[in-house]
Amino acid sequence: MPDPISCDRHGSNTGTYVCRHVAAAKRDGPVDGFDAFIDEEGNWQAMCGACGDTMIGFKGDDEARDAFAGEVGRLICLDCFREAAAINGVEIP
Ligand SMILES: [Zn+2]
Ligand SMILES: [Zn+2]
Repeated sequence: MPDPISCDRHGSNTGTYVCRHVAAAKRDGPVDGFDAFIDEEGNWQAMCGACGDTMIGFKGDDEARDAFAGEVGRLICLDCFREAAAINGVEIP
């Protein structure tokens, strides 16, 4: 399991990894092509379609991919993740 993170609104909670567009969904509304999934380590992740396409475009180039992920990636708590998913019409169990 991932280390808990400290959320301003939800306290100590499970961390999830999203692109900054998904992180901004509460303010900016739904993103195009919202995609939520559980990664190999059992963590929730979500990305907008544009970021997902960019990540796929880096295939084989881990360095470029990691740099991009570092730039657009945001760590948010699981409850914030659920809220962002709900805004995008997806229910997270
Ligand atoms: Zn994005
Ligand atoms: Zn939170």
